[in-house]
Amino acid sequence: MSNKEAEKLPDAGPQDPFADTQSLVAHVVPAGVDRRSFFIRAAVGGAAAVMTGGSPSTEEKTAKAAATAAPAAPAPSAAAPPLAADLNVVMKEKGPILTVADEFYKVGPGPSSSHTIGPMRITYDFYQRAAKLPADKLDTATKLQVNLFGSLSATGKGHGTERAALAGLVGKEPATVDPKFLDSLRDKPDQVFPVKLGNKSIDVSLKDVVYDATKGDFKHPNTMTVKLLAGNNVLLEQEYYSVGGGFIEWKGYEPPKKNAPKYPFATMKELRGYADTNKTTIAKIMLANEMSIMNRSEAEVYAFIDKIINAMVATVKSGLSMPEDDVLPGPIKLHSKAATVYKRAMDDKFEADRGLGALSAFALAASEENGRGHLVITAPTGGSAGVMPALVYALLEVRKVDRQKVRDGMLAAAAVGYLCKHHATLSAAEGGCQAEIGVASSMAAALTATAFDAPSLVVENAAESALEHHLGMTCDPVAGYVQVPCIERCAFGAVKAWTAYAIASNEIASRHRIDFDETVTALGQTAKDMNSKYKETSEAGLAQSVVLC
Ligand code: SF4
Repeated sequence: MSNKEAEKLPDAGPQDPFADTQSLVAHVVPAGVDRRSFFIRAAVGGAAAVMTGGSPSTEEKTAKAAATAAPAAPAPSAAAPPLAADLNVVMKEKGPILTVADEFYKVGPGPSSSHTIGPMRITYDFYQRAAKLPADKLDTATKLQVNLFGSLSATGKGHGTERAALAGLVGKEPATVDPKFLDSLRDKPDQVFPVKLGNKSIDVSLKDVVYDATKGDFKHPNTMTVKLLAGNNVLLEQEYYSVGGGFIEWKGYEPPKKNAPKYPFATMKELRGYADTNKTTIAKIMLANEMSIMNRSEAEVYAFIDKIINAMVATVKSGLSMPEDDVLPGPIKLHSKAATVYKRAMDDKFEADRGLGALSAFALAASEENGRGHLVITAPTGGSAGVMPALVYALLEVRKVDRQKVRDGMLAAAAVGYLCKHHATLSAAEGGCQAEIGVASSMAAALTATAFDAPSLVVENAAESALEHHLGMTCDPVAGYVQVPCIERCAFGAVKAWTAYAIASNEIASRHRIDFDETVTALGQTAKDMNSKYKETSEAGLAQSVVLC
């Protein structure tokens, strides 16, 4: 029916009882009554009355519906307690973004940036603080103790959090720790290590890492404390938070002083505005900011980006080179599949299927490395460590895209990650898997679009699309191990990134309906509303339904 025809139709009069079904339904849901059930009862009751010639008042409809509707379901144990307002990660939601690439892209052992890299950085930080105590205090020290709370306690065992925490305590750093050291802690858990503090040597072992309360009034779901004790006396104690992506904070944390960015932005709209006004790219605006915030040269910024690109290529190569029958650590006894998927994809007679299979295999390869606890790169997290490397590898090693374009892509991808961190979260313990794989896929879409010289609006649209189609995704790793669903999820995140780029580069960019900033707002809101059981606790979803035997 055309608009004109519609205009000609007479208004439905009051003689037509079905003309305005709104009038059949009372709109105020009484307290204690289930909303859905109430509306159905109200509508049915109203319609029945009209059909039998009656015309119930709103009050009558309300009373009847309330009497027959189901009682309201108890409020879900749902929403995790809000993050403490004084955490830097919360406070800096206001103001321009000051995150830089070497804070964001971190190399470290898998399987989880928040549960391995963060805790290792935390205990390493504590070890350095303790070493600075006066010698007479250190002389009395008898024990080091780590207590894990919240999600760190709930799923830390599956993530190897206790091994990571012990490694930091004995002076190992995430970027340089030999994964074999962590493997040896798993294989020989009774090992004891001397920690030198001044003249004192204190023995530590995995027994000094305590899995403490999983629920409580924590500032952040990933909370831990580290103590240096002299008998029962506390010589030094610090409360820390692993706030996602390997970032850490502590009680009283003050962010490091930084310079003002050349192009201060807090939204994609502002960032793209700078790029378009200056007739340049998002990547070049990001480069200028990286240089001004940290007072670095262009060569220094690119040297760091190259290091990360090389590490990403290495992690894919390493994963692909593992034997086809390799079994990942942990109770799931999951067989690796990257090498098999790659080999079979290469034999596929259809080129498009070869591409999809190979891209999936690259993501599986890097993600399986994460599952092995080998070195991975947070982009933005360990759980999502297969997504960005898959696209970097495909662009550089398969498509032979110029390295400078991939560097630019890494900077555009970083912008996407910074914005998600700034306005929402990168932590599965706060926002579920949408905050990990969703953000990784969005970053990878921006990387791909940038590497193929797409205009800034297409870069934004691709990132938006990839993020949008992960909204609501929960985190429920089986047995607390970052393997199921995580490893395959990385493959899907990589393929979705490619699809997002394919759509964004083929649609009319100005007609793309949703802004990236709107989707990031939805990510943050969905994270807040998500039932806490689905936030890296392994208390629900697949972690509940999958039975290991
Ligand atoms: S389900 Fe997603 S968010 Fe949760 S551990 Fe796995 S990859 Fe990370």
